[in-house]
Amino acid sequence: MNVYLKNVRIVDGTGSPAIEDGLLVYCSTVGNPDKHGILYVGPMNSDVLAKAEKSDRIMDLKGEYTVTPGLVNTHVHLDLQMPGAGFRLDPLGPAFRALKAYRRAAEALEVGVTTLRNVGGGDFFDVAIKNAVDKGMLLGPRVICCGWTLMAHGGHGSQDYGAIECTGPVEFAKNTRLNLIAGCDCIKVGMTGGLEGAHEGLCDRQVTNEELEAVIWVAHQAGKKVAAHLSDDQTIYDSVSRGLDSVEHGYAMKERTVKLIAEKGKYYTPTLSVSSEDSIDYMNKHGFPARNFAKADTARAGHWEAARLAHQYGVKVCVGTDMVPSDPVKRGCTATQLEMELLVEHAEFSPLEVIKAATSVGAELCGVADITGTLKPGYEADLCVVKGKPDLNIYDMRDIQMVVKGGGIVFSRIPNYEARNFGVVSEGHIAEGGTFGNW
Ligand SMILES: [Zn+2]
Repeated sequence: MNVYLKNVRIVDGTGSPAIEDGLLVYCSTVGNPDKHGILYVGPMNSDVLAKAEKSDRIMDLKGEYTVTPGLVNTHVHLDLQMPGAGFRLDPLGPAFRALKAYRRAAEALEVGVTTLRNVGGGDFFDVAIKNAVDKGMLLGPRVICCGWTLMAHGGHGSQDYGAIECTGPVEFAKNTRLNLIAGCDCIKVGMTGGLEGAHEGLCDRQVTNEELEAVIWVAHQAGKKVAAHLSDDQTIYDSVSRGLDSVEHGYAMKERTVKLIAEKGKYYTPTLSVSSEDSIDYMNKHGFPARNFAKADTARAGHWEAARLAHQYGVKVCVGTDMVPSDPVKRGCTATQLEMELLVEHAEFSPLEVIKAATSVGAELCGVADITGTLKPGYEADLCVVKGKPDLNIYDMRDIQMVVKGGGIVFSRIPNYEARNFGVVSEGHIAEGGTFGNW
């Protein structure tokens, strides 16, 4: 069955302005389990429409809806546990961790995230979810996995389960190889201190240049990218100079560093959500100690400025939350939506640029830009259908009324075209979802 979205606004994720009176046709998985994808994207076209067969579905969206590519959230911890148990204790166990993480991955589809990068997966739960989804065993978003996070002994996150502590280039190289052999798509390193951790300052440097170089050398030989948790300007400059692909957080960056990232064509996922006022409320509800609030308050203005500079110099900025994509936040939306709003409010992104960051740029960072992240014939039908004009008003992105992943409809709440073909979650799940799920 082919699905025709007619009289729809189209925002293709490349940054091009919307096609106002558009038509998008995709081949759905219904009746075509092996053959699916986008067939046509462009202005309304009576020749294309005339080819519709009786069994096809034609949805007239009357100019009231906008279709975008499915969203890509590039900084997710599906097994987030707050506050951490400390002392490297595993509060979940590997089997329950995988189930919990899968539930949260499935929820991501509910909020329009059809691809996510999981930046740290102890026991390779993320590789397991990726395999289950890719083989068609379970429905979920495309998962890009990093496996165990590589940290210095006693470094950022080392008290939480999910990090492998290393000292010296040999240990860093060895654990990179072990992650790659397990099927990881990307390697994650904790270079500096962070907002969490009583034992460390935000900008403490914990991994040496030589250690990072060892990771980058091994990963790049295998054609994989390296992402690093990074706080301060000098460490970011040194890391990107050495070939780091993906800067995470970047709480403080000066012009020369931002220029370097832009010149090298590398990526930056600011995760403005973590230093936001919504984050203070989020941490409070999760029982974080007050020192975390103070650190976030201190980091906020510099964080916004770093993202603003990145925009000014044309860095490839992505949308990542650090929170679970479906996490509800104080302002009344999800974490993924919050991050998109913050980029507009504090970093001078236009709504159209934010949609590009959340789709095609994220897909490029994730290494899936040849199949998703933009709307083109031959690409996977990963779609969000939104009520309103989110390319002009980012707050309209809160109103996602239909999600399609890989040609399979997840849900549609569009009047006359209601459907729910997948649901791991019950009605009203968002309020109970994300890290607030009662399990
Ligand atoms: Zn993180």
